[in-house]
Amino acid sequence: MICGCLPANERNRQNLTLPGDKCRLICPLTASDPLAMRRQMEQAARAGADAVELRLDYLAIAPSEGEIEFLIKDAPVETIATCRPANAGGKFTGGENHRLELLRIAGRQGAAFADVESGTPVSDWPACPIIESFHDFGGRPDNLDEIAGRMSGSAAAVSKIAFSAAEPRDALAALDLLRSGKKSTLALAMGEHGQISRILARKFGAFGTFASLESGLESAPGQPTIGQMKELYRWDSIGPATAVFGVIGYPIAHSMSPAIHNAAFAHAGVDAVYLPIRVEPGGENFRRFLDAVSERPWLGWRGLSVTIPHKENALAWVGAANCDELSARIGAINTITFGPAGPRGDNTDYTAAIAALCSAMGIGPEGLAGRNVAVLGAGGAARAVVAALTHYKTDVVVCNRTLERAEALAEEFGCRSSPLSPPARIEARIIINCTSVGMHPNVNACPLAEISPATRVVFDTIYNPIETALLKLARKAGCTCVSGLDMFVNQAVAQFEIWTGRKAPREIMRQKVLEKLAAADK
Ligand code: NAP
Repeated sequence: MICGCLPANERNRQNLTLPGDKCRLICPLTASDPLAMRRQMEQAARAGADAVELRLDYLAIAPSEGEIEFLIKDAPVETIATCRPANAGGKFTGGENHRLELLRIAGRQGAAFADVESGTPVSDWPACPIIESFHDFGGRPDNLDEIAGRMSGSAAAVSKIAFSAAEPRDALAALDLLRSGKKSTLALAMGEHGQISRILARKFGAFGTFASLESGLESAPGQPTIGQMKELYRWDSIGPATAVFGVIGYPIAHSMSPAIHNAAFAHAGVDAVYLPIRVEPGGENFRRFLDAVSERPWLGWRGLSVTIPHKENALAWVGAANCDELSARIGAINTITFGPAGPRGDNTDYTAAIAALCSAMGIGPEGLAGRNVAVLGAGGAARAVVAALTHYKTDVVVCNRTLERAEALAEEFGCRSSPLSPPARIEARIIINCTSVGMHPNVNACPLAEISPATRVVFDTIYNPIETALLKLARKAGCTCVSGLDMFVNQAVAQFEIWTGRKAPREIMRQKVLEKLAAADK
């Protein structure tokens, strides 16, 4: 008999290889009528889903046997039938017997699995293999191991454990369950904090992970789309040996770093994935997550980018003795590398800024000695730039709206200070803007009213927009202009090279930034 002629239930059974088989990308289907749900199924299959979850509870009217057959017969991918009751986070409001009968019908019609809430008696369930699922929308249960242990002894083919994540450590707890699972397991932490457990499911041999058809069609918080899984996180190339990287910050959802680094890994053929991790402000939050990563060497975590507001926390966690001297002086790092000798810290922001400036001027960093530079701003970016410039013996003046901050920074690094009160004109050969004035969406704002004839080079560290009002002014005045884009790409390039020991695909990374900026403008 040719496989295509098998009834759907036989075909699904033949495809079933548990445990240790391929980790499924499962698309939940959430349409409110069977026809639309079937269409979603076809779309999901075309998008690359391995399985679909038929959320029978999302159908506005409970389906008939014929409608369930319509949904399952000749399905292009494996089908999982779920009919979640309202008291377990679903939408089904009918009676319990009716709900279980719908799942039994689905099993008889050829569903590969039926998802049944933990505690439901399933030993007399002849219809199809069971996914026994446990949900806690209130948070991570204290007795996770006990729950997992109990479920591993049940008759169900698969254990599914899902709970809301209150912090990214909760995502690691879900990965612990995958690692220790005695049978096929699907463990995930819901919400933005839990995303890494969804993306890394494949690395740790989960039964599957959920990905929505498109944004807005999620069946649970924190579900990425199939497109994000496949294109951004390179789902198909994730395996047990995949190295893990990420960016820590708050907020983090709009960070461009995952797109840049994943594209670079893909282009260079590096077996690695790069994830966004939201860690709430505060040194304690940062430390807790980093400690949790360090306690789990089996995660294969190799490096982290660190952004606002955690750069100082990162230095404190790694320890100044494990960072280069200038990073320690700056008091902040944006790069952590986990190596055999422990974690190491680097600050690729300052090297990136100096490289962008020197490349535009056609000089090496030593060529900066004695040159007159005005740095506008006294925040985190200014601190890194001032530290690097003074390291190369540049003649720096720090100009800031809040004069006391300029004075404090200048005193620390042995340079001069001056107030910056727009509309201003600054007499300096080189001007570096490290304020946020002119940044999207205030694109017409400019920290200077005019450019002095003495000024020959203007570097704006802002990269959105690429050509700021300040750079437009400088271009008109005939200055050499340096965009924050160069600095931004440089810092990512340096991180890639620190982590992989290979030359970074700079042009690919630059293009990715431009693509993301263009998309953000729409
Ligand atoms: P920050 O620590 O918050 O510092 C902001 C600075 O901007 C302060 O000096 C502040 O002055 C000044 N400022 C804000 N609003 C102002 C206004 N209306 N008029 C005058 N001065 C004003 O921020 P940061 O982390 O240093 O970042 C600053 C800029 O650097 C950002 O725009 C960012 O785009 C850029 N940056 C770029 C890169 C890159 O890779 N290209 C990397 C890092 C940062 P007060 O002290 O008076 O508040």
